[in-house]
Amino acid sequence: MVRLSRPSLRKCRRFFAAIDGRSWIPAAVCAVGRWTATTEKMSRSGRASSWGDHAQLLSNTLTPTRESRINVNPFTVRLALHGDLDFFVRRGVRGRTIERTLSEKTSVKDAIEACGVPHPEVDLILVNGQPVDFQYCIASVAEIEVYPAAGPSTQFKNKRLQVATASKFVADGHLGGLVRDLRLLGFDVAYDPQAEDRRLLLVMERETRALLTRDRRLLMHAIVTTGYCPRSQNADEQTVEVIRRFDMLGSIAPFTRCLRCNAPLQKVTKAEIIERLEPLTKIYYEQFRHCTGCGQIYWAGSHFAKLQKRLKQIRASCS
Ligand SMILES: [Zn+2]
Repeated sequence: MVRLSRPSLRKCRRFFAAIDGRSWIPAAVCAVGRWTATTEKMSRSGRASSWGDHAQLLSNTLTPTRESRINVNPFTVRLALHGDLDFFVRRGVRGRTIERTLSEKTSVKDAIEACGVPHPEVDLILVNGQPVDFQYCIASVAEIEVYPAAGPSTQFKNKRLQVATASKFVADGHLGGLVRDLRLLGFDVAYDPQAEDRRLLLVMERETRALLTRDRRLLMHAIVTTGYCPRSQNADEQTVEVIRRFDMLGSIAPFTRCLRCNAPLQKVTKAEIIERLEPLTKIYYEQFRHCTGCGQIYWAGSHFAKLQKRLKQIRASCS
């Protein structure tokens, strides 16, 4: 995790307050017309002081464009978050329209992320009733409707901003339980508990993987196109969330992927691996698979029934 020095933390205070949804930048501050640009400057100074050469890669998308720096008369935007996007704002604001006063042209993506909602969580944006993309520039009074990927809305199906499915993932170091569950179900999840944010983003981009993380700042990074922030802290519930979000129920293939290294498993005959088996395993088991990556051998041991029961519960929760 990133550790910021106290001065950096103070400098970043408003930025973190905004993205964590713990407290809002007061309207009086927004009315000065600096909130978007100020957020960007603060986030950069915090990252640069703590991440060294990571700063450039991880600098976020809040850089104001030449156009956005041009001051305009202050105007008010109202944002309505639909579905479970309320998860990203503090409890006191949930269910309410968020009102902001701006005096700079601002991309709708920046306006939404300043409320704490990462752009990969946003599937449809309506500005004054019309669908727009993330680059849309707000320059006057606007009503902004924001819908999640898994939202109930069926409006504007050809204007959706997120993919409906994903088959490859990279998960951050805090999601070990989720990674184990997904691999158990046969899904391809790259995972290194020691990997830094920069490494996660590189793997995500190079291997075209969807990013799974509860770090909203990381999910807001400009290069993230597909990602998801598990709402629950329980691994089984997170698994259900991911399967639902990316419509993976029909792709479940249990016991086909190595839990240790993520490589596919392959059937082997008992004769091929018998020298590596414990004496009792040799006696009681006939069916084996081995990992094509690390060589780990798998068989339906005493824990197998328990695993099957757990998978059955996950499947039932998904359907
Ligand atoms: Zn393996």
